[in-house]
Amino acid sequence: MQMYYSVLQMPGNKADAVPCERLRNKSPIASCLGGFKDFLRQHHNWGEVLFQRILKKQSGKPSGRKGEFMKTILIVAAHPDDEVLGCGGLIARESRRGSLCHVLILTDGSSGRYDAEKAAAHGQNIEAANRVLGTASVRCEDFPNQRLETVPVTAIAQCIEAHLERIAPSAVYTHHSGDLNRDHRIACEATMVACRPYPSQTVREIYSYNVPSSTEYNAVSVDTVFVPSVFVDISDTLETKVEALLAYDTECHPFPHPRSPESLRGHARYWGLTVGMADAEPFRLIREIR
Ligand SMILES: [Zn+2]
Repeated sequence: MQMYYSVLQMPGNKADAVPCERLRNKSPIASCLGGFKDFLRQHHNWGEVLFQRILKKQSGKPSGRKGEFMKTILIVAAHPDDEVLGCGGLIARESRRGSLCHVLILTDGSSGRYDAEKAAAHGQNIEAANRVLGTASVRCEDFPNQRLETVPVTAIAQCIEAHLERIAPSAVYTHHSGDLNRDHRIACEATMVACRPYPSQTVREIYSYNVPSSTEYNAVSVDTVFVPSVFVDISDTLETKVEALLAYDTECHPFPHPRSPESLRGHARYWGLTVGMADAEPFRLIREIR
């Protein structure tokens, strides 16, 4: 059941998110492409590149760095703020380049914690944080917070599948399977079920992300340790990530808590220095299909 949904506009530029949806629906070229929906799904990478290039031509948007194409991305998060902690720099970076980053939050993060008034404020925090990042859309489902194990994984997977059908992303980011938080582990499992590589699957890349205060808190073993294989330069978007965390006022804590601005900067600097960058966000490539 849907609890909250909002199509957000990119910060400082109304033309970024909503008009793209209008172009999809109303432009003659987009209408023609709509007739080839099945074809585009089967040849998604090619179709996405073509579609995004048409959007770029019509909207006059920058295409990003040479050799890189705009993408449609889905970030699956168990709780509000996980998307910021794990992927905030990536979302801001990709959104600036013209990619469409959609966020799916499986729980509203407030079940049993807040009264109605505080829950409403929490919803505003979700929207504010994602507006800062430039997220194209954010949706919260109402699976039970910190009790995802009480729901069949298939039910969560079917929910994610519905969003995959709606968004048709080429890349999906989900939790690390070895996190201490059980909701995170279940979110990862459900994502993998939803992203099964059947022939018409649009998802070509799946990554896991690290959430400070959960990923590193688990007992370290070969099954739980987070070993990143992809590093994204967030030198230009780190402060945007920090600003987004600050929008979650109830989830932000004083240093040296892992959910503090100083900690986010420290994590980014650590991961960046491991690969010769100033600041980076780490990811583990789970599967790529070329
Ligand atoms: Zn979480």
